[in-house]
Amino acid sequence: MSNPHFETDVLIAGAGPGGASTSVFLAKEKINHIIIDKAVFPRDKICGDAFSGKSVGILKRITPAWQDYFLTDKNKAVVSTGIQFTAPDNTCLDIPFLLKNTKEQIPAGFVSKRIDFDNTLAGLIDNQYATLLTNTLLEDIEEIKDGLLVTIKQHGERKQIFTKMIVGAEGRGSIVAKKMAQHTMEPAHYSAGIRAYYKNVSGMHEQNYIELHFLKELQPGYLWIFPLPNGTANVGVGMLSKSISLKKVNLKQLMLEAIKTHPTLKDRFVNATIEGPIDGWGLPLGSKKRKLSGNRFLLTGDAGSLIDPFTGEGIGNAMVSGLVASRVIKKAIDANDFSIHFLKQYDDELYTKLWTELKLSHYLQILSSKPRLFNFVVNKASRSKELKETISCMFENVDIRKKFMNPLFYLKILFNR
Ligand SMILES: Cc1cc2nc3c(=O)[nH]c(=O)nc-3n(C[C@H](O)[C@H](O)[C@H](O)COP(=O)(O)OP(=O)(O)OC[C@H]3O[C@@H](n4cnc5c(N)ncnc54)[C@H](O)[C@@H]3O)c2cc1C
Repeated sequence: MSNPHFETDVLIAGAGPGGASTSVFLAKEKINHIIIDKAVFPRDKICGDAFSGKSVGILKRITPAWQDYFLTDKNKAVVSTGIQFTAPDNTCLDIPFLLKNTKEQIPAGFVSKRIDFDNTLAGLIDNQYATLLTNTLLEDIEEIKDGLLVTIKQHGERKQIFTKMIVGAEGRGSIVAKKMAQHTMEPAHYSAGIRAYYKNVSGMHEQNYIELHFLKELQPGYLWIFPLPNGTANVGVGMLSKSISLKKVNLKQLMLEAIKTHPTLKDRFVNATIEGPIDGWGLPLGSKKRKLSGNRFLLTGDAGSLIDPFTGEGIGNAMVSGLVASRVIKKAIDANDFSIHFLKQYDDELYTKLWTELKLSHYLQILSSKPRLFNFVVNKASRSKELKETISCMFENVDIRKKFMNPLFYLKILFNR
């Protein structure tokens, strides 16, 4: 081996929510590491920009002062207190998020452009333990004796890093996932999404509820309108890739058409103006269990396909995977064991945390593609306080989500007026 430019125990590839949170939690364990990103922050990431209670929970563990970092600048984030569903038959259902600890006034969710959020999160990377190299692209990984030889391109110059292990956190299309775990893109477990920023969309919810519109043409998937500061909204559509090819859907056309003609949307966009382009990106869904570790590697966030298949939410799971990765890495360093057998505990621990929820969300994704059943549930819920509360709890409580898998649940709501 020729002399590498850098040597480390742990290399994290990618400084988005998955990589940055792995780094922050590794620093809490006092573990030195290198984290690289091909971009220079602040950088955009195509996203709905919505952060759930799960993200809030992890941000609190990153720093108790998280609100000071992410929420105090009113030009950068709005607190959201609920969710509005519109069923394929245009019935509307408002569901407030449950506030677990109302004394502390913890926001249940918020919306913030990723260009701002990711920059703030990357700013929390602790340079006492982490060396953050931006404008540094991961190009290749080679297994050698006692470690990995990683080729990077830093500011256009090709260099090498020797590391005992690597964390794949480069998001969709991760090189670590492809090369070391042989992941491929599977259209039945992958969605495509497009996003645009609009100014002056009227009729936004006064408490900044995020809106999901389950249009008939978009099943399984939805159109979203998420409120942002200063009269801006993040508007986008997402749909399962398998259905996009089967139905030959053009997402951009479909979104523009819906905004122009759909009965519940068209009036709201009369005075709205688009800001910037309509951009698209892929969502690797967690509807199938995948290999998340192996000899000298772990996968976090989108690199490990951990996006919720019903809601399209991936930031919370990316940060949860960063937390679990840091714990397993600490154990691997202490044991000086980076083998496939040792690192397998990462898959076990992470799927123990996430799989029940991902499986149920897969079920809900299938349910949402059946417009009649979806209309029925939303219609009933719009008239039943009890069912509304059940749906509200469903976002926090996986056991309540299980109810939706039981046919008796539908019989019960059929006869319960
Ligand atoms: C249209 C759309 C809407 C979405 N809406 C939401 C939403 O509202 N809420 C939500 O929770 N989730 C949403 N998601 C999912 C969410 O965006 C992802 O789950 C989340 O960004 C995953 O974080 P990550 O850190 O794993 O990957 P990323 O955020 O993609 O970060 C990966 C990082 O790696 C870097 N990188 C990539 N390749 C390399 C390389 N070769 N070398 C070095 N660095 C590299 C990138 O520059 C980037 O900084 C949405 C996704 C899409 C596509």
